[in-house]
Amino acid sequence: MVTGLTTSGTGSHSHGGPSLETRFGSLFAELAEIGRRPDGSYDRKAWTPEDASARQWFQSQASRLGLACEVDRNGNLWAWWGGPGAKAVVTGSHLDTVVGGGAFDGAVGVVAGFAALEHLMRLNRPPRRPIAVVAFADEEGARFGVPTFGSRLMMGQLEPAAVRRRDDGHSTTVEEALRAASLDPDALGADEARVNRIDTFIEVHIEQGTDLAHADYPIGLAESVWPHGRWRLSLAGSPNHAGTARMRDRHDPMLVAASGILGARQIASDDAVFATVGKVAIKPNSANSIAESVDLWLDLRASSDVILDAALEEWMAAVRKAAQPHTVDLNLTCESRSLGVGFDRGLREAIRELAGHRPVPTLSTAAGHDAAVLASSCRTAMIFVRNHTGINHARAEAATLEDCAVATDLLAAAFLRLAIDEPAEGV
Ligand SMILES: [Zn+2]
Repeated sequence: MVTGLTTSGTGSHSHGGPSLETRFGSLFAELAEIGRRPDGSYDRKAWTPEDASARQWFQSQASRLGLACEVDRNGNLWAWWGGPGAKAVVTGSHLDTVVGGGAFDGAVGVVAGFAALEHLMRLNRPPRRPIAVVAFADEEGARFGVPTFGSRLMMGQLEPAAVRRRDDGHSTTVEEALRAASLDPDALGADEARVNRIDTFIEVHIEQGTDLAHADYPIGLAESVWPHGRWRLSLAGSPNHAGTARMRDRHDPMLVAASGILGARQIASDDAVFATVGKVAIKPNSANSIAESVDLWLDLRASSDVILDAALEEWMAAVRKAAQPHTVDLNLTCESRSLGVGFDRGLREAIRELAGHRPVPTLSTAAGHDAAVLASSCRTAMIFVRNHTGINHARAEAATLEDCAVATDLLAAAFLRLAIDEPAEGV
């Protein structure tokens, strides 16, 4: 299975018990039961009953392994091996999914964490510094439109006041959802003491593209995360009857929305800018009415912050021009914005070395991750697992257990090196 690591890594084959692949597979199968819809896709949006079941699963894994489990002030779940003292080496990802998401996004990172720890526990060598598995709350932002909710609040990158009253479109606010999950919304916010306890964070995640599949490598290491953001464009026209309002008298926001959607494609390119309008809200959304208003959301990612700003400018200029002849008012609001992030080169090279003879290519990603949020305060790395379809946030996400086990073994090797072999003072 993981031939490159039997000597330089954790020695997967020499300590008896199930293989990492089997261990990963059985843990993953348990989690994959939760929130699966009849069509095979997932719905584990944050703070829903499905999310609660996944969090329950996390807690049961922690107690099965004898790890101290806690929920922090921002709803993130932690399972600790080894007490306080030295700074910790942490792994994990998230348990929530988008609506109609796949089985692997987020889940792979949490399962890999537990499987790696379980594997290391069999070595009977207590860690010299604490090791933790974390599941960050509401990473996807699928319900309240606030991605990387738990990690950004913890890091002080998100103001609690800015999110508490957001609603999910079905009249439940963040505050209400948190209270229903037995969390105190008044306690949300920067958690400096916790952040200061983290020395290193390594996130295992399914690749969101086909670079690894095309190059035929099971895993890769992330070099950077592109800057990205979400903007809401509100277009206000005049509602009227589709059968009586003369064409030349209309102020139809749908026409401007159409220009915005097509305009996003105009500013995009494969190598520098990804631009998407994936959500539109039409009022009143009636077949024989001229719409009163249309809101559309632009998801924009670019290879640099300067390129991203320029792309947004270009898009807005085109939308303004399109709005003019129809006398439609427009209002642009930034809902989230994350700067570009480069991961720690030293940590990346140390992990690559642990892979021995196995080549581990370096990748960039245009998707946001909790690891990128943490990168400003601790050493961070991401290990990507080959995705055979390259599809993400849909049921067609596909990784093999064998590839997941390769990533898990490398994660375990990193823990062995950073938290068990090395004296805690040395790092
Ligand atoms: Zn994810």
